Amino acid sequence: MTNSLWFRFVTAFMVVILVTVGTLYFFVSRNIAALIEDFQETTQEFQFDQMQTILASHYYVHRGWEGVQSVVEEKASVLGQHITVTDVDGMVIADSQGERLGESYGDDSSGRPLKTLWEGEYVGTLYLEPDPAVEPYLPPLQGLSESMNRFLVLGGLLAIGLALVLTFVLSRRVSSPIQALALTAGQLGRGDLSQRAQVREKGEIGALAQAFNSMATNLEHAEQLRRNLVADVAHELRTPLSNIQGYLEAIRDRVMKPNAATIRALSEEAALLSRLVEELQELSLAEAGELKLVYQAEDIATLVKQTATPWEPQATAKEISLSLDLPDRLPSVNIAWQRIRQVLHNLLENAVAHTGRGGKITISAARKGDWVEIGVADTGEGIPAEDLPNIFERFYRVDKSRARATGGSGLGLTIAKRLVEAHGGRIEAQSKLGKGSRFSFTLPVAE
Ligand code: ADP
Repeated sequence: MTNSLWFRFVTAFMVVILVTVGTLYFFVSRNIAALIEDFQETTQEFQFDQMQTILASHYYVHRGWEGVQSVVEEKASVLGQHITVTDVDGMVIADSQGERLGESYGDDSSGRPLKTLWEGEYVGTLYLEPDPAVEPYLPPLQGLSESMNRFLVLGGLLAIGLALVLTFVLSRRVSSPIQALALTAGQLGRGDLSQRAQVREKGEIGALAQAFNSMATNLEHAEQLRRNLVADVAHELRTPLSNIQGYLEAIRDRVMKPNAATIRALSEEAALLSRLVEELQELSLAEAGELKLVYQAEDIATLVKQTATPWEPQATAKEISLSLDLPDRLPSVNIAWQRIRQVLHNLLENAVAHTGRGGKITISAARKGDWVEIGVADTGEGIPAEDLPNIFERFYRVDKSRARATGGSGLGLTIAKRLVEAHGGRIEAQSKLGKGSRFSFTLPVAE
């Protein structure tokens, strides 16, 4: 509960509202109190002036304080003050409440001196005290203060109510897509990779849902690839394994003799198996981007020569002419030497395998902008147009039965493509059935 979005929203809103209303209340009430005090002081001052004038006139008219009590009583009710007048000796000669007449007023400095009109002779003292029985006249200010307080309390309550409703709506809007996401994530986690978050929200949550869904799509795709790979691998391993099994059973049943020819056939199948396993391992590393590639500026002409030389005996045996077409000057390329050697090796292996007697294989290199393009062209059997787009795919072979007989794993071009792409380059194939093929790939020129 305390962790819920709604609770956190409500708490935050409450804190903001209470701080705002509290601060407002503090400042407004302080200001109003100061205003009231100010007003009361001014009124008191005014009333003192008024009473001083009235009493001085009375003294002048009556040549003394005679009849002053009735004046004081009359004015007290109008002013809402307790009025007391003493003579020069401090004895009370008029009291609007009639309590202390004839008594000494005692020590009190709040009184104002009463003086005769013309001579200014001191004839007594006037005391004013607010009468608690009479409401002071403060309607505008007092009213303002009260209505202000009422407004603050009501406004605060209204704001709190509004905040509760708003946070409820807001937190539902925020949390329901998140809950939907969490639900989908849970289903994905349990292995149902076809699940997608149904969030029509825009903004950050929409972006989150989109990112989540595209992650789920990638996961599903990767899972599909993994399943395909397992199926492909099982399929590829089955043939050499059942061949080996067949040979062994034939030997056991004395249908075949364990002679040199049988053993050679067995070891060829075993070699095919181990090559398959090796290449699969390499491919899986390349696909996971985990091949430790150390890039260095290298001379590509040297690499081409070094890779081509070991193929000369085989080419000569098939009466194939293997030639190099390298310009005098080529820039260094930024490559992992062994990996590019392997790419070229795979291409040459295919070229030699698919080129008949008297054919021609040419390895070329040329600069193209920031890239060096290496080409392996042959005058071999070529590749049918419908197969050409697929030859870089894993285990794809044009002639299934023959390719397997020649020992091809169907992984050579896939590995070559991954390795070239790891260098940032591209690999392509052009071919004409019956005329020959040309494979080319690009490598980045070293800075
Ligand atoms: P493999 O190990 O079978 O050679 P690759 O991935 O290297 O596997 O090649 C895939 C398929 O592409 C081959 O089975 C072959 O049919 C075709 N291919 C590759 N290179 C050539 C070529 N130079 N000429 C004709 N066909 C080729």
